[in-house]
Amino acid sequence: MQDPAVARRLLELALDHGPSLEKLSAGEIIEWGAEHLGTNLAVTMSMQDTVLAELAARHAPDADLIFLDTGYHFPETIEVADAVDKRYPNRLLRIQPVAGAVPELYKTDMTACCAQRKVEPLARMKLPYEGWVTGLKRVDAPTRKNTPVLEIDKTGRIKLNPLAAWTDDDVDRFIEDNDLIIHPLTKAGFPSIGCAPCTNRVAPGADPRSGRWAGADKTECGLHT
Ligand code: SF4
Repeated sequence: MQDPAVARRLLELALDHGPSLEKLSAGEIIEWGAEHLGTNLAVTMSMQDTVLAELAARHAPDADLIFLDTGYHFPETIEVADAVDKRYPNRLLRIQPVAGAVPELYKTDMTACCAQRKVEPLARMKLPYEGWVTGLKRVDAPTRKNTPVLEIDKTGRIKLNPLAAWTDDDVDRFIEDNDLIIHPLTKAGFPSIGCAPCTNRVAPGADPRSGRWAGADKTECGLHT
């Protein structure tokens, strides 16, 4: 964060409101973000589901929706992004990898590949904003079990995790109740969806995230660490 006065204001907001936000619904948390950050709030989406797009449409109508287009998504993921663009018009921004990103770097160095196609683009994306919303859930992985609803990220920005307390069943129920866009691969053995080269089908009953970077010593892409 460049401006120390803004960073101080965001830190004060987090200290004053963080604990009470834990008790609010996901919609109320996003609404809080819109109220305090206005158009300086971005809502990030992986397109695995579209819960955040729906919540943002209701509770943060001026916030941008952000999709990191790594260049290696499944065609179905791009179709979901296109459908989001249609259902929630003029809100979706697609962020591209760094200029000169090395092709197929995932074959030799996944960390460097994620850095070029996810981590740097996210950092670039965040520059105009004071806060961002993620779809992190505590049930996603042991590394996420202590995810707070509100935190200050490494850049001093507010990071809101309105779905932190949601279970996978909560997500499924919200999708069904609201007739949301469904990523077809989530019904075809891919409960956790990332880039195509790094996402495998998961056997019934197995850890939903075990299909991500299968066989590699890697569980996070670096966006949230
Ligand atoms: Fe590259 Fe795989 Fe990371 Fe996507 S998930 S950016 S293909 S290493």
